[in-house]
Amino acid sequence: MVRNPSAYEADIAVLGSGASGTHGLLRILALLTDRMSSTDDMISIAVIERDQQFHSGIPYGHRSGGSSLLISALESFLPDRERSEFIGWLEERREEMLDWATDGRTPDSTLAKLMDRDWILRHEDEVRAGRWDDLYLPRRLYGQYLSELVERAVEAARGLVEVDFLHADVNEVIGDGHGGAHLRERNSDGEVLFEVHAHSVLLAIGSPPVRSLAVSDVPVDAGRATTDAGSATVDDLLDTGLVADIHTPEIEHVIEKIRVRLESLPAEKRTILLIGGNADALEFLLASHRLRQDTGARLSILSSRGRPHYWHHDLPGEQASTPILDHLFATAEAGAPLRARDLHAAVRAEVTAAISQGNVNSTIAALITAVGSSLRYMDDFELCSMATDHGVAISDLLRRAGGDSLDFLTDGIADGSITCIPGRFREAHVREDMLFATVDQLPGSAPNPGDEAASNDAQRYPDHGYAVIVNGTGFERVTDTRSPLLRQMLGSGTVRASAARTGLSLDEKFQAAPGIFVLGPLIAGHHHGGSAYWHIESVARIIQLADAVTDSLVTETISKRSMRQPLLTS
Ligand SMILES: Cc1cc2nc3c(=O)[nH]c(=O)nc-3n(C[C@H](O)[C@H](O)[C@H](O)COP(=O)(O)OP(=O)(O)OC[C@H]3O[C@@H](n4cnc5c(N)ncnc54)[C@H](O)[C@@H]3O)c2cc1C
Repeated sequence: MVRNPSAYEADIAVLGSGASGTHGLLRILALLTDRMSSTDDMISIAVIERDQQFHSGIPYGHRSGGSSLLISALESFLPDRERSEFIGWLEERREEMLDWATDGRTPDSTLAKLMDRDWILRHEDEVRAGRWDDLYLPRRLYGQYLSELVERAVEAARGLVEVDFLHADVNEVIGDGHGGAHLRERNSDGEVLFEVHAHSVLLAIGSPPVRSLAVSDVPVDAGRATTDAGSATVDDLLDTGLVADIHTPEIEHVIEKIRVRLESLPAEKRTILLIGGNADALEFLLASHRLRQDTGARLSILSSRGRPHYWHHDLPGEQASTPILDHLFATAEAGAPLRARDLHAAVRAEVTAAISQGNVNSTIAALITAVGSSLRYMDDFELCSMATDHGVAISDLLRRAGGDSLDFLTDGIADGSITCIPGRFREAHVREDMLFATVDQLPGSAPNPGDEAASNDAQRYPDHGYAVIVNGTGFERVTDTRSPLLRQMLGSGTVRASAARTGLSLDEKFQAAPGIFVLGPLIAGHHHGGSAYWHIESVARIIQLADAVTDSLVTETISKRSMRQPLLTS
């Protein structure tokens, strides 16, 4: 890991090198190349990342497995222009994929590190026909693609812009009083291990860490595992059967540790409890497919909704139906202001109707488009209400799933190896060689396999033992976070949490503080100029916002540079 103990000066610091930091960097390089001439002084950019890998973040690199797939088909993953360029890149690798599928010989290129051969075998027809848009692609392909884009962009900007890629786990960002900031990593004794002073910062650190689970009697505090403990502590937890975060240190390591644990137990004890019904749950389902087949492990998925309404394949010929929303929009079109809470109620009613009519997926697709266009009927107050409250609840209703993970789920439910449990996790504790989970029952549900006869009145069921418990409960709120950097920035008053508590309070240029521009999930809760942002996680949305955020950042950087210039040259 490259460490820079001495202070380092940069015009721009990009903090975090996931999809947000990388798309931000690509836009910054393009804008600077357009706006600068060869007689200008070079602009320096420092990209700072704590992980060993740049340009991929959690979803698109080593922390996610070769088996991890996009959560949507490629068609809705990227905007048109970016998608067609990415498809061009995929086309260049098509023959290699097909050869690998046919002869089984692992290619010498990076391809073997980016995807599983099994995936090609499952989708050989689509790959052969170039039907990329329909595919839920291995996510690491996109990380590799991004790193090649960065390499080319840095080369194209050579002579105008100098980019350094630095490793550090920054835990302090403090404004310099002149619109810039000092970014530091300190050790537990307060010594500075790394420092950059930047005139502008692109803060692209992703979501806060995943929530911690209430677990007692484990060798170490489960909550520390994903933040300030080393991998030995994570391994201690994994040895106990507790997966605090499926991507720490990386999903393939987690799966191997689970395999060792399951194989050490007799067949009847090989049980896994997966808590949460979100994207991480489907991710684990996919990543653990072969492990569960090999060990005969049974998987129980605990979610407040049991099997979430969107964990179903499209039904043949199903058609969207949104009469309540159509009526609401007709009223808005006639001049009545649209209220966020009415939109939320209409979406809930449409989804409930779709569940009973069996046209959930098509209706959700139609509702997503409709909600996107509904903001034009809202005034500033209602936009704020969307950004801070109703938008999040609507997104929760309009989640989508599909592809291979859904195939594995459906097959597992059919053959009895997967059970969906409606209920809420309360706590777990270690007893002998198992983890015992306490689950609160939700009305009309039976929390554990075999408890079907349980009374609907019961609030809580007897503890049930599992070999492995997997946390898939999603991210912390900014206001509850254990992230040392966010705590320092919030605690020092450098930034403030948004009213939604899921992101940071921003101005119209997406600045959380003078010179600190934000891109990615921490935009959640912001509203401005006819737009409201309640969920900024999809790559398509990040790309869209990268334009607006970096335009302000680059304008400001160039103007700061020109103001400093007389001082620098005198
Ligand atoms: C498992 C998973 C699957 C997903 N799949 C999809 C998908 O299929 N399609 C889609 O559109 N979206 C998907 N998403 C949404 C995803 O959040 C975005 O696509 C995108 O990855 C967000 O990028 P980011 O750069 O903001 O965050 P991250 O990917 O989290 O990257 C942030 C980076 O900042 C670094 N960092 C954080 N703090 C510090 C610090 N203090 N110092 C130094 N470095 C730091 C981290 O190490 C990380 O590399 C998925 C998300 C997850 C978690």
